[in-house]
Amino acid sequence: MIYRKFKALDKEISLLGMGVMRLPMDEQGRVNNQECIDLIRHAVDKGINYIDTAFTYHDGMSERIVGMALKDGYREKVIVADKMPMWLCRSEEDLDRYFEKQIKRLDMDYIDMYLLHNIIPPNWKKVMKYNALEWLQKKKDEGLIKHIGFSFHGDYKLFKEVIGAFPWEFCQIQLNYIDRDEQATLKGLEYARQKGIDVIVMEPLKGGRLTDNVPPSVQKIWNKAADEGVVSKDRSPAEWAFKWVCAQPGVSLVLSGMNSIEQIDNNTAIFSKEDIHVLSEDEQSIIDEVTAEYKDKIRYGCTGCGYCIPCPQKLDIPGIIDYINVWYAYNKNPSTKFEYTKWMASHASDCIACGQCEEKCPQTLKIIDIMKDAAKEFGE
Ligand code: SF4
Ligand code: SF4
Repeated sequence: MIYRKFKALDKEISLLGMGVMRLPMDEQGRVNNQECIDLIRHAVDKGINYIDTAFTYHDGMSERIVGMALKDGYREKVIVADKMPMWLCRSEEDLDRYFEKQIKRLDMDYIDMYLLHNIIPPNWKKVMKYNALEWLQKKKDEGLIKHIGFSFHGDYKLFKEVIGAFPWEFCQIQLNYIDRDEQATLKGLEYARQKGIDVIVMEPLKGGRLTDNVPPSVQKIWNKAADEGVVSKDRSPAEWAFKWVCAQPGVSLVLSGMNSIEQIDNNTAIFSKEDIHVLSEDEQSIIDEVTAEYKDKIRYGCTGCGYCIPCPQKLDIPGIIDYINVWYAYNKNPSTKFEYTKWMASHASDCIACGQCEEKCPQTLKIIDIMKDAAKEFGE
């Protein structure tokens, strides 16, 4: 495992961090505690020493499981990150209320890295309205938080404003080769680097969309690179994506939401390569080619973060968006329509256009229009 020095910490941190937002679930959507505890401990045993959770992941089960997994001597081995759900706050008192719940769920005396979660314009307004910056400082002075940061899904202009508003020690941004010009952007990464702020990258694989069901035309480009000897034959789409992120100056840590032992083993092997941060000009131009191919195919840039649910009509919004993206990416293959009809409990045509989901989407997707599109293409 490659480790990097964080400016804020006196400890070296694994370049790969474990995000605990996509735990394995059974058919009823429940997590198996022991399986998840074993998974987190396996990650720590493989050298990962940064664990990232949040109030809303798995309805609070993520924090509880992190707490349970880090018993028996594991707590001392890792840095724990947790986040304040700004969009749920309705008053200044809510900050304390949610924080107390988090400490209780984690069963810990303090949280190492604490972030204001999902900074986008409406949440940033709440930060100001409820004096969350002063609150953070107070919690740090009391020793309940060790380091202060924020996670971000707004645009570059807001990113600069947020950076300038507080002496942040770190921040977390979404970055992958497809989204390099979206949200904080590569320019934002450079801005944070110049300001001396550690940057944690989330969604390096775009929620698995750069690695699962790779379209044949994209795979062809990856294969060509191997056939021409630019890279070795065993370079996976995940390694391409991780390598691109690690090669960007200013990246201190890359989070991956791993949900199987196999994923942890594959990813820790990739992050143990000494040249993980090196990207040749040839490799960059292959990634550019793949980016162009994907941009052509992925109609709706959903990351699968799940902030938009629950929906009053019980629509699995990210699931439907996945189907409609696959529909277009694979040239309207009838099996996609068949699976959508058969497997989805509710369909896009059930959308009542209430707009609740759009208010919460960090990618500012026009979800109502997407549901209309899906209903038209799939017929329900
Ligand atoms: S707009 Fe449609 S998809 Fe979004 S929350 Fe309302 S019913 Fe659900
Ligand atoms: S639609 Fe938006 S909020 Fe919902 S999963 Fe996709 S990116 Fe996340």
